[in-house]
Amino acid sequence: MDDSAPKESCGVFGLYAPGSPVSHMVYLGLFALQHRGQEAAGIAVSEGDKIWVDKDTGLVSTIFNDYRLQTLRGDLAIGHTRYSTTGSGDWQNSQPVYRQVGKHQFALAHNGNLVNTEPLATELGVPADGIGSDSDLAAELLARELHGGSGDQDELVEAFVRTLPRLSGAYSFVLLSQDAIIGVRDPHGFRPLFLGRLNDGGWALASETPALDVIDAAVVREIQPGEMVVIDGAGVKSLWPFPAEEIVPKFCSFEYVYFARPDGNLRGQNVHRVRQRMGEALARQAPVDADAVVPIPESSVPGAQGYAHESGIPYVDGFVKNRYIGRTFIAPTQQLRRNAVKIKLNPIRENIEGKRLVVVEDSIIRATTLLETMRMLRNSGVAEIHLRVLSPPYKWPCWYGMDTTDQSKLVAAQMSVEEIRTFLGADSLAYLDIDAMLTAISPEDTTGLCTACLTGDYPIPVPSHGVANGRTETRWNLPIEAVIP
Ligand code: SF4
Repeated sequence: MDDSAPKESCGVFGLYAPGSPVSHMVYLGLFALQHRGQEAAGIAVSEGDKIWVDKDTGLVSTIFNDYRLQTLRGDLAIGHTRYSTTGSGDWQNSQPVYRQVGKHQFALAHNGNLVNTEPLATELGVPADGIGSDSDLAAELLARELHGGSGDQDELVEAFVRTLPRLSGAYSFVLLSQDAIIGVRDPHGFRPLFLGRLNDGGWALASETPALDVIDAAVVREIQPGEMVVIDGAGVKSLWPFPAEEIVPKFCSFEYVYFARPDGNLRGQNVHRVRQRMGEALARQAPVDADAVVPIPESSVPGAQGYAHESGIPYVDGFVKNRYIGRTFIAPTQQLRRNAVKIKLNPIRENIEGKRLVVVEDSIIRATTLLETMRMLRNSGVAEIHLRVLSPPYKWPCWYGMDTTDQSKLVAAQMSVEEIRTFLGADSLAYLDIDAMLTAISPEDTTGLCTACLTGDYPIPVPSHGVANGRTETRWNLPIEAVIP
């Protein structure tokens, strides 16, 4: 089955906690960020004189066990969960990526997607079609900036500060050196990154606040767009590697719609509450006479609650979602594809048979799974299906960290709303307006958000072709990383 839900490009985590078993804590943080990438995961720890990296393909829980974590000794560490937007999803492209230059060692983990990989690769003398991962490219650029190789931390920080302005696109990085962890967001702040404080005085960095909650770290604040924080024995130092005029916040609005965990906060807004507001706004914008409001689990649940609350139509569970499904796979026949959807999602016939339903979905990207879901509803004897979508039509490719770079696969780019309604077999179909979505996200201030996939308004130029175009299977020949078995 082609799983038609959008994929996030990664989760990152970092920990500076002298005297604590950091690898086990990073494991917990990564577990909380598993939804941001299920292809691969990795942890890098510093023992002071050396950095160890352990990473593999698969889920966090299948890669790491207690023995493996105990071999990762050290006071500071970073971690990564990966879904590939540039580069294939195999082991060589898993993260953190590692480099050694002279006495310097560092490991780098990346959430986002660079859009200028082609010119950067040319600069490095790597064939354009030979790039495996934009994160590896960033690590190589930094390695080549470390001319001195003295091992001095200031030298590494200065090299990183010189490297960052050469990168274009979306990045929230965490970097591990022998003595420090560093967090940085691109000047638009497309992807989130938070600073947390441990009870015993250590510090943490995480893509989302629930990853701080699980290790009992207090959320201190978001790392600001264009900000770099260096965390070491002296505390937290904030640096600003970019000119002030280049810092223009454009946080990904789809983090609220689909990616982020509902129990987290982004830019001061609880994600669950934002999704409820989207549902409330949709009920006002696209009312319909119906018997029940049904979410397509799970990210649409708060939106359906909001729609039900605002409309007065009862909220009903129409599906059971299998909690043990991770990634799904391409099935060779139509019948197997239908079976695969039913493994994930099965209708509760008794709750929906004979009823006129408002079916709430967070977004429609490729529509393949949704098509099967609609068939399931019809086969369950539903009288009417009024499909309501918590975001505007997704028409333009994302180049900033989501796997939707192929516009030909975006159903809203290929069909009108009426054509999509017919294609899906719905009795009616309505999308939330862009202004209503932005107000639901941030009622006080609707600026500072990226909406490129919904409006075509790209904050930074994107490539029209080339190495950043989707998931290439080729790799470049950079030095193999030091990895413990
Ligand atoms: Fe997010 Fe869409 Fe912007 Fe990509 S294009 S960063 S998915 S809002």
